[in-house]
Amino acid sequence: MSSSALRAPRAQPNAFLPYGRQLIEDDDIAAVAEALRGDLLTTGPYVERFENALAKAVGAKHAVVCSNGTAALHMAARALDLGTGKKVVVPAITFLATANAPHLNGAEIVFADVDPETGLMRPQDLQAALDRAGPVDAVFNVHVNGQCGDIEAIAKIARARDMKIVDDACHAIGAAFIAKNDGVSQIGSNAFCDLTVFSFHPVKTIAMGEGGAVTANDPLIAERLLRARNHGMTRKPDDFINTEDAFDTDGAPNPWYYELIDPEFNWRANDIQCALGLSQLGKLGRFVTRRRALAAGYDALLAPLAPLVLASAHMPDCLPAWHLYASRIDFECAGISRATVMRELAKDGIGSQVHYFPLHRQPYYAKRYGALSLPGADRYYAQCLSLPLFASMSLSDVERVVSALGNILGF
Ligand SMILES: *Cc1c(COP(=O)(O)O)cnc(C)c1O
Repeated sequence: MSSSALRAPRAQPNAFLPYGRQLIEDDDIAAVAEALRGDLLTTGPYVERFENALAKAVGAKHAVVCSNGTAALHMAARALDLGTGKKVVVPAITFLATANAPHLNGAEIVFADVDPETGLMRPQDLQAALDRAGPVDAVFNVHVNGQCGDIEAIAKIARARDMKIVDDACHAIGAAFIAKNDGVSQIGSNAFCDLTVFSFHPVKTIAMGEGGAVTANDPLIAERLLRARNHGMTRKPDDFINTEDAFDTDGAPNPWYYELIDPEFNWRANDIQCALGLSQLGKLGRFVTRRRALAAGYDALLAPLAPLVLASAHMPDCLPAWHLYASRIDFECAGISRATVMRELAKDGIGSQVHYFPLHRQPYYAKRYGALSLPGADRYYAQCLSLPLFASMSLSDVERVVSALGNILGF
């Protein structure tokens, strides 16, 4: 890896490099085929097998898998009673679902600013949002790009106000946080939050096709999550209220009987998806190692392009999962628009993407909450550009991307 690669002739156009994609191997396909041959295509054995493996992999007591990351966020909001009359802090740089899910459950959203260099909410950003909004019930923190901010300090602020904490770790399965005194804790273990949410969409680090999960350590909350996944019904005799309908004359529960506690949706993941998730989870370590090597390749190759182009930020207290490699480019200084750079990259067979347009500027939220000044989010948004990063990429693909980017920017 050397900067001379930047001056090397442009590699011949190879296969298109999207900004992210799944890596499905023969054993993943075999696992799905086996699930398809089973007796139960849904509510079968793969669901719990995947949940147990996931809980173990991230160091949580419970994992509840579901149909996607958005459903997982909604289930988290349901399980923590973040509905009508409640307020939830969400950082402005994230995918729509982080705010939409608690909002659709009835909660109002308080947008927080982020660090303009990392896109992550800092403790002072949370504090500023709380100073602005008054009493708030929860914070949904986001591990943008697979990094983690100072989640210990964020937890301290939130706990002092009795707030619930949900980590949106849709970018961060396989990441870990290095705490000041408590050593390394896996994202998903809930060391500094109540619940952690993951997505297993194909662009994320492991794929279920569509899929998601919530991890929890409190068994009552885990039960609440299970009900939030499955219509709000219970089959546990201890829960039954209509005892005359629920039990036979000998006191045994009637075999057909279930009760509704709170109406919920069907957010289940089926056995086909869970078989794929389980197979992919076995590769998490390998995939993350690969992503770290590719990110290190980008770091080295982009260094000569500084300060016009900056490497994706790497937090000091984080062992990142590198879901995205978010370069930051001073498009104004370069005299070229981001759209032009993206179009030129696409001509070279290179995909790129912007993560994310700040949520407080989305028409729906801007209308609902008025114009907010969140300059960190605006500045991060103005400069970020996610470059291709996925487990089947090679270092020569990284060289190809950086070389094309350098040419487009006039290096
Ligand atoms: C992908 C993603 C989601 C939503 O996950 P889906 O599985 O696509 O529903 C939520 N939050 C963040 C930060 C994400 O990246």
